Formats: sequence, C-alpha cells, structure tokens
Amino acid sequence: MNIANLSASMETYDPSSVEEKWQRKWGEANVYKADLENAKEPYFTHVMWPYPSGDKLHVGHWYNFAPADSFARFMRMQGKDVFSPIGFDAFGLPAENHAVKTGIHPAESTEKNVETMIKQLKRMGCMYDWSRATNSSKPEYYKWTQWLFLQLFKNDLAYRKEATVNFCPSCQTVLANEQVWDGKCERCESEVVQKPMEQWFWKITDYADRLLKGLEKIDWPEKTKIMQRNWIGRKEGINIHYKVEGTKEEIVCFTTRPDTNFGATFLVLAPEHAFVQQVINEDIVPEGESCSADVKKYVQGALNKSELERQEEGRKKTGAFTGFYAINNLTGYKMPVWVSDFVLGGFGTGAVVGVPGHDKRDFEFAQEYDLEVIRVVVASDGDASDITSLDQVQEEEGTMINSEFLDGLDIHTATEKIMDHMEKEGQGERIVTFRIRDWLVSRQRYWGAPIPIAYDPEGNPHPIPEEHLPWELPTDVEFKPTGTAPLAQSKELLERTEKIFGKGWTPEVDTMDTFVCSSYYSFLYLAAENEGGEYKQRPLDSGSLVDKKLEKKWMPVDMYIGGPEHACMHLIYARFVGMVLEDLKFVEHGEQYQRLVHQGFITNQGAKMSKSKGNVVSPDGFVEKYGSDAFRMYLMFMGPFTEGGDWSDTGINGVDRFVKRIWRVFSEKLNKKVDQDKAVTAKLHATIKKVTADTERLHFNTALSALMELLNLLEKQDAVSEEVGQTFAKLIAPLAPHLAEELWELTGGKGFVIQQGWPGYDEAQLVTDTITIAVQVNGKVRAEFEAPTGISDNDAIAQAKADENVQKHLDGKEPKKEIYVKGKLVSLVV
Ligand SMILES: [Zn+2]
Repeated sequence: MNIANLSASMETYDPSSVEEKWQRKWGEANVYKADLENAKEPYFTHVMWPYPSGDKLHVGHWYNFAPADSFARFMRMQGKDVFSPIGFDAFGLPAENHAVKTGIHPAESTEKNVETMIKQLKRMGCMYDWSRATNSSKPEYYKWTQWLFLQLFKNDLAYRKEATVNFCPSCQTVLANEQVWDGKCERCESEVVQKPMEQWFWKITDYADRLLKGLEKIDWPEKTKIMQRNWIGRKEGINIHYKVEGTKEEIVCFTTRPDTNFGATFLVLAPEHAFVQQVINEDIVPEGESCSADVKKYVQGALNKSELERQEEGRKKTGAFTGFYAINNLTGYKMPVWVSDFVLGGFGTGAVVGVPGHDKRDFEFAQEYDLEVIRVVVASDGDASDITSLDQVQEEEGTMINSEFLDGLDIHTATEKIMDHMEKEGQGERIVTFRIRDWLVSRQRYWGAPIPIAYDPEGNPHPIPEEHLPWELPTDVEFKPTGTAPLAQSKELLERTEKIFGKGWTPEVDTMDTFVCSSYYSFLYLAAENEGGEYKQRPLDSGSLVDKKLEKKWMPVDMYIGGPEHACMHLIYARFVGMVLEDLKFVEHGEQYQRLVHQGFITNQGAKMSKSKGNVVSPDGFVEKYGSDAFRMYLMFMGPFTEGGDWSDTGINGVDRFVKRIWRVFSEKLNKKVDQDKAVTAKLHATIKKVTADTERLHFNTALSALMELLNLLEKQDAVSEEVGQTFAKLIAPLAPHLAEELWELTGGKGFVIQQGWPGYDEAQLVTDTITIAVQVNGKVRAEFEAPTGISDNDAIAQAKADENVQKHLDGKEPKKEIYVKGKLVSLVV
C-alpha cells in the first residue's frame, strides 16, 4: 500500500466530492480553454446546438454530449489542440408559448433556462471552452443573423413573394417545407394547411446541384446523404409544350418518361395553375359549353385541403374538366385538359401529361373519368393486351409498341430518342428539375431575430443600414399568436423605422426561422469571446462574422455530433449558408462539417422514452448517487455509440462496482518498486491497442470491456506499479474524466491527466509466452505444468498442489514450506 499517496486521498471512492474537486480545479487552471491563435494541430468538435428548455437535461442530451466529450478528450490526448465549445439555440417557440401562458417575457425565461442548463452541463464535467459560449437570442449574436440576411438580400438570394405556403394552425406561423413531416408540423405534429401568403424566401434552389455534389466530399453517414439526395430530388427529363386548341395558350408539362408520350391521352393541371385561373375568370372560353363554374367550385374545395390529404394514396381521384383540349404533338390526339388536386402547384410546372397505361395514378384518374388508355410499352412477358385494371399498368422496364419510330426500342433508348426528336421539332426542351423548394425563412412569431427590412410607402423592401444593427427585438408587444406577427403591434419599432427613413415607412414585422440562427453558428464559435463574464461577439465593422485566419485554420468542423432528425433541416440549411458565405468570400470552408456522426437512441426496457408514457429516465438522481463518470460510462457501455442501447435502472450498479474496484486496486496495491509480471505488461499493451482502436471508431462499449478485463488481471496481482496505474488513468480518462484525474494524482502523476499524451503500445510486448514449471515434493520432481510467463506466486503454488501426482505424494498433508522460483519450479516440503 502506498501510504504517502493514500493519505492525500480517501478510503472509499466518493464520486460527488471527487467530481466537484476536479471540476473546480479544471476551472481554476482553465485547462479547456483553446488557444485558437497559436494552436498547432487544431481539432474542432462540437455537438448540435442545444435548445435551453426549462426541463432538466434528459438521457438523450447526456447520450449526445457525454460520449461526444469522451471523443474530444481522446483527440486531445492524441496530441490535438481540441476546441470543444457549447452554446444555446435560444430563440424559438417553447419560450414564446411559455410567455403566452404565464406572461413571463421570453428573454427572462430563456435567461433562467440557460443558467440552469449551464449548471447541469458543468455538473456533467465536459471539456467545454465556456469562454466562447454562444446564445442566439442575444443582440450580440443576432446582429450577425441579421447581417447574414442582408448579405443574401443584397446578392439576390433573399426575396419576398406571395406563394401558397405551409401554415401550422397550432403554432400560428408558416413553416418551411423541411419542417413539414408527412404533412404535419415537425414541432407540434398538427396537420399543416396551405395558405397563400407573402413571405421571405432564401434561394437554396440555386445551390441544389452544389449541395448534391458536396455530399461526395464529406464523411457523413450514408443514410443521411441518401436523405439529402432524396430531399434535393434531382430529376432529368423534358418540358413538353402542348398547344391548347382554339386558344393561343400552351401548357408545359414536365415528364421523366417522354418515351410513353404516344400513349398520352389527357392533361391534368394543379388547382393553382395559371391556366385554371384563366378558365375561372373566363379570360378564355372553350368552343363548347363553359366549364368555368364547375372548375371554380372544384378549385375552391381543393385549396382548402392539406397537401397530405391531396397526396394520400388510395384516395379516390377527383377533378373537373376545363372544356379545353390540348394537342398531342406526336399523334394529333385531342387530349382533354382537366384540373385535379393530386397535382401540386409547387412542384414541376404544376401540369402533368396523363399516360394512363404506364402510370398508376394516371390510370386511376382515367378510370374515374372514362379517359382512353393506350398501351405503348410491353413487359418482358410480352403481354400486349389492353390495359383494363390497375395491376396491368406497366410502369417498369419494357419494349416500345404503338409508338411509330420508337417501336422495338427499350424504354431508356426510346427516352433519349424521343427527347432528341422533341427538341429538334421545337416541342420541348430537356431540363433538370429538383424537388427542393426555396427556404421560407419568415415567421409570424415574436421570439426570433427581427428581419432587418423596412418598406417604403410604395411597399418596396429596403435593408436596415448596418450601423443600425442589431435591429433589436421590440419589447412593447403582447404574446398572443394570432397568425399575424406580434411585432406589428410595436409602436416603438414603427417609430424607430420612421426616425431612420421618414414618415410612411414601415418595418418588416416577421422574425426569422430559428434554423437561420443555427445555419452559421459554428463560425461564431470562433468569434465569440467572454471578457470578464461579459459576452462579446465581433463588432459588425470588422466586416465579417469571423476572423478569416481563424476560419481558415479551424474550419471545417472536424467532428460534429448530433441527432439524425436534422438530416433535411439544419444539416441542409447549414450547408447552403456556408456555401453562400464562401461565394461571398467571407469564409473559405463553406462545407462546415467534415465528419458527422449521429448518436443512437436510448430506450427504456425496449420502449421509446416519452413524457406521455412516463418512462423518461431523469439522469439527476443517478448522477447524484453514482457520479457523472459512472452515469456516462453506463450509457456508453450499453452498445456502440451510433446504435444506442437499452436502459435499466439496475444496470448502472455494475459500472458503479467497476469504479469502486478500480479505486480499491490502486489504493491498496500501488507499489513504486514492483517489477510487474510479463503477463501484466502484455495485457496492458493489448488493452492500449484495443482501447485506442475502439475509441477511434466510437465503440466506447468495447473499450470499457477491455479495461474491465485488465482490471480483473490487476486484482489478482500482489502489487501494481505506478506506471501501470498511470497508464490505466490515461486509458480511462476519456470515459471517466474525474476518476482518471483522481487516479492520476494517486499514482503520482504531475499536472492533469487530460494534459498527458495518449499511451502507445509495443507489438512485441503483446506476445505472452508460456513456461513449463516443475513441481518438487521434498526435493524430488513429481510433476510439470504449463503456465503463462507472468503467473503469480499464489497461482503457481495453487496449480502445483492441484496436480494429481503431487497430491498423491503430499498424502493429504499441508506442506510446511511452499516456494515458487519464478519461471522454474514450485518446491513443496511436507
Ligand atoms: Zn406547429
């Protein structure tokens, strides 16, 4: 026992006092403050910006933050200059809804929530550089959000337009397409309705191709890349122009299957299509009877439906005939022009050419309204009969028939040939389309960054001059969402606007989507400074949101960790905004996140944790009882980080015992002079090798198992060397940072363990030889056995006595003398 060290420590391990002690010492020594200017091997890693909710940190937070911190610590011990900041995505609806209910101003409740969360995060003991914490709701921060808006506005990337937009009746605000999941509000799950409204959009569609191409160069989960590819939805096809008989009008339909056009028998327009409006207004009148009244009635009904309802599969197709016919260029066929709500106005050209033989949706529509079905493709089975039922509709591969110069070709060759033909004849032009729409960034809510725009008396938008940023959120506003922006009530905002621009000018009253705040926050981590508790961002007159030298050095973020639910929201917006900032020469690394990892989910006895089920695990009680280290290790022990695991209230006991056993081994067996057995050395090197490889690939669970195995061996030793103790402390430092510091101190380490280099291993040391040990009874060899080189005295003697022949010669007597000559023989004397 190493009395000298133990006296400075304790008999049993007390996590709460140990953790408090090291958190204090880390803080005093500022060990986690990154020197951004002078760092030689910069490594930038952080988790997705948390929302400062009033609830306590839950297991989900812990499972994101703690393993991410373990990885950051590992990288630091690998010799990297790790910068691991944290901040708060502090604007948003929960604080505002809370204000509606209680009358407490969102600024006040947010401040309180941030304070609580900082306390909890500090108790967790992560290596955050608190000096660069960010908070999107501070004017210091949102002046940059507004600056960003103005950069896009000045470069024709932000525009205002009336469009049919997604409106959440519960949140009382419009939503971006990315925030509508299966027709429902991503935040509150209310069904979203469509409303024509004038809104601000950012031109993310200009970047669609680049957003696709950029995916090839980043180290992101393949699933997330696929989701982004699908969301961006690049399609190659052709816009075909069809003349409308008896008018000067043309209807343009986009299709990816022009090969089937010999089988086109009707057109369907979205209720929002301009031609439909002309029909309703009777700007154009068909030769026969006017269908204007029917069309008007149908369109009114359709526009009251949600996009989800309109797209629902298996729903009976409805429509109205416009009274007009368009001419199929290839066949001269008079195609009736219909309006139907299954065609969406915002997608493609809002017009679809009906090919009922080769598209199931078109077939259903044709059945409903008795429109002609013509087969132009046959499948490999050669069935060329008439198509009379849905299951006969041939959407797959096949060979062309009934298509003149295309007959006999496969559909792909036919597609190219018909597109060449149509382009040559001036009937259409090849086009690439995208599913992604421009990003709707305005919100009719209070708790967000005000859009820095003012309108002249004619209603034209003008930027608020930069010297007036931050364009502060007014406070003379009531919190009652009505679907119109709360800022519209502010007298102060109006007066402020008039003072700058003159009478008759009005302020923009919408605020920005909070996803704007988080689209560039990694850059601001490099810019924020905390001066004596005072939070400071760069001044606007510095010209750019981040120092270019620092940005070049630190971006892109080397490791970004957060939930997969952001695949088609934050993670697309941030890529777009980064690319814009790169194009405008404010940054060099527009692609902000080089490596992305999603943590898995923690379930509770197999069930998803949710408030309504009442099975949400609250970490606080467990952290208080077992410590932050044990809690974090238990979470990491459940399974590979990206897969998550299943929680059980009693499972943490095993990890708690592990912590106590570690403490017992090192406080009882530590000995400076011990010459460690070869088996221990071999196991130690094997453990270093395994823990290194496992931690690199975020398999903290198996790294922990390896340390447990090493501990099992150390428990069997009579003594453990300081060197082994220090290596153990280093190996467990990423996983249990407080315990590791305490061990490091106990084993005589200088400085902090987090400041030490990661231990290396020697392949040569991994080999464990076995030796043959002879057993003498009263001086005569009676047996031999094989044992590992490092076998302990006790084990060697026990194994010798267990031999059958030896037992015969001992004749049931207990030896008076038992000697083990290391690596050679056991001598027993009775
Ligand atoms: Zn909602």
